[in-house]
Amino acid sequence: MSKILILPGDGIGTEIVDQAVKVINSLNSNHEMGMTLVNGLIGGIAYDETGSPLPDETIKTAKSCDSILLGAVGGPKWEVLERDLRPERGLLGIRSELDLFSNLRPAILYPQLASASSLKTEIVSGLDLMIVRELVGGIYFGKPRGIEIRDGERFGINSATYYESEIARIGHSAFQIAQKRGKRVCSVDKANVLEVSELWREVMEEVSSSYPDVTLSHIYVDNAAMQLVRDPKQFDVMVTSNLFGDVLSDCAAMLTGSIGMLPSASLDKNNFGMYEPIHGSAPDIAGKDIANPLATILSVSMMLRYSLNQLELADKINLAVSEVLDKGYRTKDISVAGDKVVGTEEMGDLIVMALES
Ligand code: NAD
Repeated sequence: MSKILILPGDGIGTEIVDQAVKVINSLNSNHEMGMTLVNGLIGGIAYDETGSPLPDETIKTAKSCDSILLGAVGGPKWEVLERDLRPERGLLGIRSELDLFSNLRPAILYPQLASASSLKTEIVSGLDLMIVRELVGGIYFGKPRGIEIRDGERFGINSATYYESEIARIGHSAFQIAQKRGKRVCSVDKANVLEVSELWREVMEEVSSSYPDVTLSHIYVDNAAMQLVRDPKQFDVMVTSNLFGDVLSDCAAMLTGSIGMLPSASLDKNNFGMYEPIHGSAPDIAGKDIANPLATILSVSMMLRYSLNQLELADKINLAVSEVLDKGYRTKDISVAGDKVVGTEEMGDLIVMALES
């Protein structure tokens, strides 16, 4: 019996999470998974209903659950709020409260979608890359931060900070994942300019001595961005800081054709995790039944793999997605001329049918 906290959030969040819930319900009915779902509030909707983007109740419930499934947060309606009340603060807050420091962002190209990538098929076909991003430290959390008046003008400040222990634990995550994959870790930094990156590189070297079966290499972040679009298949596991990981993983996402295809996991040291698509709340398409729910459905697969230890069921979901793509069904974002374009709801139903066939 597992208890899962469902946090749909804002924008397309509700629509895509509904499809993932259909998948969980199907697993409950057909595989006696006994996953109990509890709904909670986060983001703009939480602010509207409680005055906070991360109500205490949500954290309390999260701590009583085995896993969390999140849709997305944010939207123009809340952009006018004071910074601490904005939906995105809810997301940063829950990651930090639960110490979800290890963010796994796979970029896998389904062969059926090779033509949806902006890169040539031979460059991306078969891509299977894992970006491991540090999620609760670095410049997103470092202090001092803020906007103040200095010398009579506005002055903005953020601080890129890491303790060696923070670097070491994300390093261990990356090396352990690499041991189960291609046994190569590439650490991304800017050690030629930033002292915090110099420390990052030193600690990665120290951590690597515990993993003699894994090869460690280093790359500067500017070169990493270039290599990702030049020859992405050279990488197995990339490990990097919060900010660099944010940018590089969106770049890697587009190699695969759509941001709507990519799940993610954010784990603590015990593999308790929050699972979410890497995209945002897409206010431009919310409520239109055109959002791609596959990243969220694949997030359920990651939850089964990394937190609930149900590897067979995780594979089953991946296979169902592959089968539906094989039959030519696509949401609008991944379609090319001649595809059978379906809406969010219908895509969810097709995955459930494939799971149950
Ligand atoms: P976004 O990811 O929401 O959208 C970027 C583009 O991708 C849009 O054109 C959108 O329509 C498209 N897209 C995203 N998900 C899609 C899907 N499942 N299917 C089809 N198309 C999809 O990024 P944005 O526009 O920069 O941000 C919108 C809001 O989301 C902002 O408020 C931002 O702060 C928030 N945001 C939240 C998260 C999160 O909750 N994890 C992440 C990023 C952005």
